[in-house]
This record gives sequence, C-alpha cells and structure tokens, in this order.
Amino acid sequence: MQCVRGTYDLYGDAKRKMKKVTTTGAAVVEKYGFEEIETPIFEFTEVFSRNLGDTSDIVTKEMYCFNDKGGESLTLRPEGTAGVVRAFVSNGMQQNLPVKFYYSGPMFRYERPQKGRQRQFTQFGVELLGVESPQADIEVISMAYEFLEKLGLSGQVTVEINSLGDAESRDAYRTKLVSYLKEHFNELSEDSKNRLDKNPLRILDSKEECDKIVVENAPLYSESLNETSRKFFADVLKGLDLLGIKYRVNNRLVRGLDYYSHTVFELTTDKLGAQGTVLAGGRYDGLVSQMGGGNIAGIGWAGGVERLAMLLDENVDLPRPIAVIPVGEDTNDFALQIAYKLRLAGFRVEQSYSGNMKKRITKANKLNAVKAVIIGSEEMENNEVTLKDLDSGEQKNIKAENLLKEITL
Ligand code: ATP
Ligand code: MG
Repeated sequence: MQCVRGTYDLYGDAKRKMKKVTTTGAAVVEKYGFEEIETPIFEFTEVFSRNLGDTSDIVTKEMYCFNDKGGESLTLRPEGTAGVVRAFVSNGMQQNLPVKFYYSGPMFRYERPQKGRQRQFTQFGVELLGVESPQADIEVISMAYEFLEKLGLSGQVTVEINSLGDAESRDAYRTKLVSYLKEHFNELSEDSKNRLDKNPLRILDSKEECDKIVVENAPLYSESLNETSRKFFADVLKGLDLLGIKYRVNNRLVRGLDYYSHTVFELTTDKLGAQGTVLAGGRYDGLVSQMGGGNIAGIGWAGGVERLAMLLDENVDLPRPIAVIPVGEDTNDFALQIAYKLRLAGFRVEQSYSGNMKKRITKANKLNAVKAVIIGSEEMENNEVTLKDLDSGEQKNIKAENLLKEITL
C-alpha cells in the first residue's frame, strides 16, 4: 500500500532538514517574545469558509471537508491564521494585548502535487495580535528575515512587499480595477469572469496566462492609496531601511485571501521553479472582528517548511556518536552502564548490539562514530576500557572512571 498522492513519509535527511527549519524558527521568534500555540488540526468548516473568502482558491477548490459521524461539517486546516484567531477569540485573549503566537504543523490542501506543492505540508508561522502601528509590520518582517538569515538562506531570497491600504483605499482601487477589467472581460479566464463581481482583487493573483496578460496593464494599487495608507506603508519601508533589510516593492503583489489589508509581503527564491514563495504574510486588521472578537489588528506570516528545507543544501548532521562495544557476553552489563553514564553526561552513544569485533567496528564507522569504547573481559576485571579514536585509529587503555575526562570532543 502506498500513501495518498501528495503526501509523504518523512525521515532521514529530509526530516532532519525540516526539523532544523522549525527549531531555528522557534529559536528566532522566541527572542521576539512569541510563544507557541497548538490549535486543532480540524475545525468547523465555517472557521475557514467564512474567513478566508469564498472566492479564494483555498475555499473554492482546496479544502479537505468531511462530515463526522455526528453530522458536523469539519475541515482539515488549510492554513494557520484562521485557527489561531479563532483560538484567540474563543479563549477571550483580548484582555491582555498584544498577543504573540507561533505555530508549526501540518496543513492540508487539495491541489495538484508537484515539486514544492503537496497535499499535506508543514507551515511554521507567527501571528501578532493587537498592534495597529507599523512597528508590528517592521518587527514581523524583520523576524522573517532573521529566520531566513539563521537558516543561511537570506542571500537566496528576495523580500517582496506591497500595500493594499485600508478599507477606503481598497474600495477606491476596486472601482478602478473593475472598470478596467470590464473593458477586457472577454480576455479573462472563466474563473476570473466569475470573480469579477464577487472579488475582483483576486484576479490580480490569478495563475492563468490569459489573466496575467490583462493584469499586466491594470491600474496600480499604489495610485489608489489614501494619505493614511501611504504614510503607513512609507513608515514600514523606513523601518526596514533602518534595519538594513533589502526589499523590492512589488505593485502586483496581492495575497490570495480576503482578510489582508495594508502590508502584504512574500519571501521568494528563484531556486524552486514555479513554487518560489517560501514565506508569505500580511496584515489582517479586519479578521478578528469578522470572527466576533472586536476591533483588533493582526499581522502574521507563514513559511513553507518543506520548501525552506529543500533550499538547505548541506546535510544536517547530528553530533557524531561514541560507540560502546562490548567484547564477549560477560561484558554486556558493564557496557550498558558505561553507555548510560556517557548519555547522562550528554554524549550521543550508539551501543553495539551484535557481531564480532571487526563487524562492530565497521558498524561504528558507518554510524560516523568519533570514538569507540571497547570493553574486553580482562580489562573489565581491572575496571579498564580501551578508548579508540576512530579517525586516527589510535587507542589506549584507561581506567573506566577516567572515561568522561578522557573523552573530549
Ligand atoms: P502558492 O502561491 O505557492 O500556492 P499560497 O499563496 O497558496 O502559495 P500561503 O497560503 O501564503 O501560500 O502559504 C504560505 C506558504 O506555505 C507558502 O509560501 C508556501 O511556502 C507554503 N505552501 C502553501 N501551499 C503549499 C503546498 N501545497 N505545498 C507545500 N507548501 C505550500
Ligand atoms: Mg496556493
């Protein structure tokens, strides 16, 4: 039996790289005061269908919805923000703002599997709730940048940024855009024709060739921003300048979900073909109130852990182990105690389970062990062991109680 199309068994180097991505992410964002949250992997379908926008790709095509045995419509989470905001509201966290959360875990989307695009994938993301000022945007983007920097990837990515402005600016832009798109109605894809009334902004994000051609000459968002929105965006960019974070203003950048306003951004690379966005986010000032939680601002991002892991080219190596090798049955118990002691002291230890001496040494080398502690019957009688350096081949007899002192890695 095989696993379902678009899902993978993760182990070995691929899993180690993903773990490096998530542990690096956690270490970075914890310095900014973010705490981990874990929300359920499935939610009531409305949590997503009502809040991501009913013309978004996720809601129209990609959600894994099912009825449970009690007849509830549930959905495997396709993204993290809606669940975190739902948790924020349902746990009444509005009293103590700001709230800063990070999460990591599997997301599910029914899409066409290809390199960097799975049906089950992992996101590492952050949400900052309750800060209206551009300081939040700057902090959150700089955190994303530091995350990539700590992974050694900042040289390979571009920070793309745009502003969608506030509600007034969006309305003004929408009017301009609709009248432009109406002039080009016949050139649009079927999907986009349908979206024109419901959510024309989404057409800017379309992946269809014919739409892209029309969008090329569409009015620019920046021309519709009101004074407040312009100032907000300028402040965000100024903050990034102050921190020396390079970015590219991309006037065509919109995000696929309805809840974004003001700042939207993506970290992109040209190393992953069509799946070049490794991290994406933005401000979502209307989302909390839409979910019944009051007028509270929010901003966040999510990184694709598999895509980031694919960019890590060096293998992620574990610390080299020490091999503990008993020679002869009667030394097994002593070896067990020594292995335990070494582990308590913080070393990674591989016990040798079976085989003759030669085989055991070969196995230790295969495990990339740095040293071997060889325990023979006679030595054991004298409370001694042989410590062998597996790189140089040098070995010496030492007292067992001196082992920890002798092993310096
Ligand atoms: P795309 O344009 O590639 O479909 P998206 O806009 O749908 O991306 P988001 O919803 O913003 O993606 O998710 C944030 C990040 O999660 C993406 O930048 C990407 O790195 C990752 N991601 C999204 N969908 C998938 C997927 N199906 N498989 C693997 N990673 C994904
Ligand atoms: Mg997508």
